[in-house]
Amino acid sequence: MTNRLNTVQKVSDCIPAARNILSSVFGYPAFRGQQADIISHLANGNDCLVLMPTGGGKSLCYQIPALMREGVAIVVSPLIALMQNQVAALHEAGVHAAVLNSTLPHEEAQRVEQKLLACEYDLLYVAPERLLTRHFLDLISRIPLALFAIDEAHCVSQWGHDFRPEYSQLSVLHERFPAVPRIALTATADPVTRQEIIERLALHEAKIFVSSFDRPNIRYHIVDKINSKQQLLTFIQTEHSGNAGIVYCLARKKVEEITAWLNFHDINALPYHAGMSPQQRASNQETFLREDNIVMVATIAFGMGIDKPDVRFVAHLDMPRSIEAYYQETGRAGRDGLKANAWMAYGLNDVIQQRRMIEESDALQQFKQIATRKLESMLAYCETITCRRMHLLHYLGETAVPQFCGNCDVCLNPPKTWDATIEVQKALSCVYRTGQQFGAGYLIDVLRGNCTARVKHWGHDQISTFGIGSDLPVKTWRAIFRQMIARGLLTTDSEGHGALWLTEASRPALKGQQNIFLRQPDVDKKIFRKMEPAVEPLFSSAEQHLWEQLRAWRSETAIEHGVPAYVIFHDATLKELVHACPRTMEELSRITGIGAHKLDKYGDHLINILRHAN
Ligand code: ADP
Ligand code: ZN
Repeated sequence: MTNRLNTVQKVSDCIPAARNILSSVFGYPAFRGQQADIISHLANGNDCLVLMPTGGGKSLCYQIPALMREGVAIVVSPLIALMQNQVAALHEAGVHAAVLNSTLPHEEAQRVEQKLLACEYDLLYVAPERLLTRHFLDLISRIPLALFAIDEAHCVSQWGHDFRPEYSQLSVLHERFPAVPRIALTATADPVTRQEIIERLALHEAKIFVSSFDRPNIRYHIVDKINSKQQLLTFIQTEHSGNAGIVYCLARKKVEEITAWLNFHDINALPYHAGMSPQQRASNQETFLREDNIVMVATIAFGMGIDKPDVRFVAHLDMPRSIEAYYQETGRAGRDGLKANAWMAYGLNDVIQQRRMIEESDALQQFKQIATRKLESMLAYCETITCRRMHLLHYLGETAVPQFCGNCDVCLNPPKTWDATIEVQKALSCVYRTGQQFGAGYLIDVLRGNCTARVKHWGHDQISTFGIGSDLPVKTWRAIFRQMIARGLLTTDSEGHGALWLTEASRPALKGQQNIFLRQPDVDKKIFRKMEPAVEPLFSSAEQHLWEQLRAWRSETAIEHGVPAYVIFHDATLKELVHACPRTMEELSRITGIGAHKLDKYGDHLINILRHAN
């Protein structure tokens, strides 16, 4: 910052000062959730651990104190791309910040170090391995330090997927700089990880700020998989035309196939999977981040460190292996707080495929059991007839959860249930009579009296269950089998051939001692009601035209500055511009996301576009 706001070392009530920075530097009118408390706690020199969901606004929790306290704030982050984008966004807001990591040429790194010694930065982002070098620790011991921020703090956890060995040595910061306050931040909620962070980072004295992990702007929506390619296309065309989104698939081949299919239908899609070269992957990721209308079709290799705020939807064409994975993947939608969709097509094959993957893996029995339990929770979530958000938050350990969210498919379009006791009995009986050796497809042939060569070969056209289910279509039978597996009334064989077996729970159901209600399948078009779009449409064609103009200007400016489009302005800011249509600099300064620096830099251009709008 040109006039640095770094004079406040100890202040009892620093919230007004923080609010002033929020508005003048970042252009936001109000703090979100616990931001103000966290900022005040840290700005007053205290340690804290912040558990906040993705999109909750963690960055401001240390960026604002960094501007309030004397000295340089050191931010540790494991992700190079993310650091660079954060620094680019800070530059746009007029904040002095820089990155130090292994990708920097030697001379550039030296220049950064010199500026650091001259205290020219408010924030310095540094990779953990760099931070831990003697050279760097000596360097920062020669300057005043505002704070240490340890982002993605769950990387200390050896049990997590993102384990970074260097993170476990970060307690050195506390040992060498006991007077410098620290803030650790993560979007990983579980208590085990939380305890590990406290232990390994020596944060025993730190105050813990836990936010709700609800993401109210995300709409959860699961559909019965019928023709997933077509369903995906319809979903994107009707609700997300021109939006950025992520489509997750399990296999590379499917990623390629879906990318081609979407491109064929004029949707800008790019693939991302482990079979591509690192350069190709990096380039596709870069395009996705920079532009505002790319659909990334990816395996789960994609996503860590994607802080793009305007991802409008996350679609799953294959079911994730656990609720944790689902929550993390869907959480990449709607970081900017605008409406977003988490959509999934789910069917019988997902259940069988995931079970098979567990069986075929080399993991120890103990891990297979955990994986099976997690999968069962995921299936229960898919099949739930209660509010999905409630289900999800309960699973994540939250207790104060409303029964009805009004923003998931179950709340918006309550599923009908039907008494399937007899059908379940017929299916179980068919499994029993055919010797528990066949998969769902074959069993459905027998039930429907479909005399295929295979059925004939095994003589199953002669058994009592042959044709007893001819009154129902294949789709309904598939939905019945899927739900039976999800409820543990059937299980897949341990050899991974997809044959269905009876379970302990099958017995009472087979004898008809228990009434079984299943979810009515969505196959009947009359039952399926299209939801209104999750993202508000712009009403008039003049508004639409202005929106396009602003987007085009943003895109040009972003290319000129070599930064992603959202770093210039978020969609939320452009949308507010369209609706409020400010004509003066004063009016413009009141728009969310336009701080003093951006007003200075872009105000004239924007006024010019807006004046010519109508
Ligand atoms: P997290 O790191 O928790 O996932 P970020 O810090 O990236 O979240 O913030 C998510 C988005 O919300 C960012 O684009 C950020 O600019 C915006 N944001 C954060 N706090 C506020 C606020 N108080 N008002 C408006 N927007 C905010
Ligand atoms: Zn709901």
